[in-house]
Parts: sequence; C-alpha cells; structure tokens
Amino acid sequence: MATAGNSQAGYAGGATTGQQIPVRQVSHEEWETVPRTIPNFWVAAATWLPLVALVVFVRSDLLHSPYLDTSFWNIVSFSMVATVLAMIFGGGRQAPWMGLGLGAGIYFLLAPAGDLQRILAVALAYFLLLALAVGVLDGRLRRQLRTWKREAAGGIALAQGQERDFGIFKQMSPTVWNLALGALIYPLLRLGWELASTEVHSLHDLDEGYRLDVLAAVVLLGISLLVSLLRWMRLKSMGLFALEIPADHRIGPTSLRAYGNAILIEKEETEACLCRNDDKNGAKKEFADPRFIFCSEVCPVHGVHAVNQRSAEEFLGIAAQPWVYGENLNGKLLEGTGQRLVIAGLSGWGSRPVSVRASLLYGGGKQASAYFVPASAREPLNRTKRRLVVQTPAGESITADTFENNERAEIDRIDLRPLGVEAQAVRVHGGRPFLI
Ligand SMILES: [Zn+2]
Repeated sequence: MATAGNSQAGYAGGATTGQQIPVRQVSHEEWETVPRTIPNFWVAAATWLPLVALVVFVRSDLLHSPYLDTSFWNIVSFSMVATVLAMIFGGGRQAPWMGLGLGAGIYFLLAPAGDLQRILAVALAYFLLLALAVGVLDGRLRRQLRTWKREAAGGIALAQGQERDFGIFKQMSPTVWNLALGALIYPLLRLGWELASTEVHSLHDLDEGYRLDVLAAVVLLGISLLVSLLRWMRLKSMGLFALEIPADHRIGPTSLRAYGNAILIEKEETEACLCRNDDKNGAKKEFADPRFIFCSEVCPVHGVHAVNQRSAEEFLGIAAQPWVYGENLNGKLLEGTGQRLVIAGLSGWGSRPVSVRASLLYGGGKQASAYFVPASAREPLNRTKRRLVVQTPAGESITADTFENNERAEIDRIDLRPLGVEAQAVRVHGGRPFLI
C-alpha cells in the first residue's frame, strides 16, 4: 500500500503522543453563531471583475507602454493561464491585495497623467478599501478564536509528529502547489530539451513563449509562498489549541469532509475482506490518508451484495459507517447524531485545521468516526445549504448520486432513528443504499 508522508497514521493508534495543547469545548449554538464574513465568491468577484474592466479600459495605453515588448501581447501560454486561474480561484481572502498589487503594477507601467491618473488612483483606492473591509470583517472570527483560546483548559495530545501538519507548506491547498510546480516543470523541460537538441545555445535565443511560462510559474510560486507564509505567521501568532466542535457540516466556519468509497484498515479489514484486491488498491496515486484503503464493490464483507443481503437488524449494525453508502454518501448520516469532532489549527478564514483523535470528549456525546475530518475554513454563500464534501482516500472528490435520479429497483427502507440518525436508508438492487 502506498503511504503518504503525513502524520495521519498515528491518529488511530493512540499509543504515541506528541505535543499537549489546550482544548475548548464549543457548543452547537456557539458554532452556529460564529461571525460571518464576505464569502470568497464575492471577494473574488469584487476583485477580479473590476480588475478585468480596468485592464480592458487601459489596454491601448498598455500596448504602448515603453516597458512592455509588443510581442509580449501575442503570447498566451499554458503557464500564464494556469497562473491567472490559480490566482482567481485560490486568491481567497488575499484577492483584494493581489488586485491592489496588479493595479499598482499597471500604474507603474503606464506612468499616467491627467484623467487616466485619476481613474487609476480611484481603482487603487477601491482595492485598498476592499482589502481593509475584508480584513476588518475577517478579524471578527480571529477575535472569537482568541477568546476561545483564552478559555481553553485541560490538554489534548497531538499524534506523534502531527505538528508537521501546521507547517508553512500545509497552509495552501495541494492543488495550488501542484498547479504551480506543473506550470514550472513543463516549460523548464521544453527549454532544457531545446537547449540540448538544437543550435540554440544562449538563454536569450530560447523560445520566448517558454521563457514567459517560466516567469508566470515563478510568479505563481512566489505568491503561493507569500500567502502560505502570511497564514503560517497568523497561526503562530494565535498559538496552537484545539476546539471540540459539533460534527455538523451545515453550521460553523468549516465544512466537513468525509472519506467515501473507503474502509478504515484498522477497524474494518478482516480475513474475509477482499478490498485490498480491488484494482484501485493497486494505488497509482498515493493515498492522502494511509489509514484507509478503497472499499471494493465486490468484497464479501463490504461489497454491494454483502450490504444488500443483510437482514434489516444486521444492516443497522453497520448503517452508521460511511463506507456502506459508497458513492451515495451524504450529510444525512450525521443529522441528529450530536457527534463531535476535535480540531486543531483553526486560526481564521482560509486556515486548514486538522482533526485530533481524542481519548475523551469534554462536551459529552460521541466522537465522529475517523471517516470525518474538517475542511478549510471558508464562508459559503449559504451555510445551511452547505454539503458534506465526500472524497476518496486518494483525495478525489465524489459527487454523490441523489435518490431522485435513482433508476434501480428498491429493496427496502430502513429507519435509522434507532441509531440516532434522522434519516432513512433506501437499499436498491445492484447498488449502494441511499440516505434520504
Ligand atoms: Zn472488504
């Protein structure tokens, strides 16, 4: 089995303990009323739309800028597009500052006078005000977190080496890093090949498109590093502490992720289990969390047939486990259960907390299973409509099928209220059960 180089492996064992940190219990009401902020979607729209309008407005001036070679405008390369997309979608709370930086760059390139100067000054003032407004609104969550940290008591042990999850490079989504490295490696390889295989032997004679690709990738890497550093410094200034929160994806600043199509090796893998024989466990891609393997659809213990063959009573014995529902897993499985989750590393919007497996819960109730982990802190357009994010152990997102689209014949409906879950499981022939 492939193993990823993170500390998740230590969570389940509990035998090894790392650093002790204080913990604060957060009630359902407190989590529900965490101060709101402007959703990332609106921050992005309020930044990039005016910036695009500004660029379109001054494009003829930019074309005549003494600082830009005319051939610059004929090249739209893969890495430049990747950089622009990564900034638009990954800019998050820092987008207005990026807008301000780009606006200042345009101001410098044009050295404007008269009306143009006034328009650019207004644009710069707008980006600055937007950045400050977002900063002030975001500060409300940080104040709340500081208060909770002061009130934190007791201690909870991180798993051995789990401190690594709070490092600088963990502050940004792996997707952005992969995009930046991909954008850098591709043109570098092409340039290297050109240098080795052609008559071109000076850097200046190399294909300009690839040189600009390298420049775009370096800019993206630089911005990613800067944003990561800022988030890491914010985490350091807040200090590490844990929060025991309700496991409900519809409230609070962080959504939840669930591992779908996965079984927890330690609890689920038995002699009869054939999940490891599944193609997907041939593991071309490293598992994001090495405690899990792919759940096979034909395993005699975890497969579709095995789940459907159980009596209703036997089904209730496994019905609280996410793997049972495969692709059809949704947030209904948590509704009404009052389960709780201990997280650490929440330091503001955009931070990426991780779960800590606690030996006991201060607030009582049951600890959500290891299949559920926090997602990064992000204000959605509507918290109550937020969905549980389901991912495979390899980190790929699963879009849950809905029962409304189901065309398979129904076997039965099993009420999950005896388990404390406010939902029904609908079993269907030849497929995983649905939660409604
Ligand atoms: Zn199995």
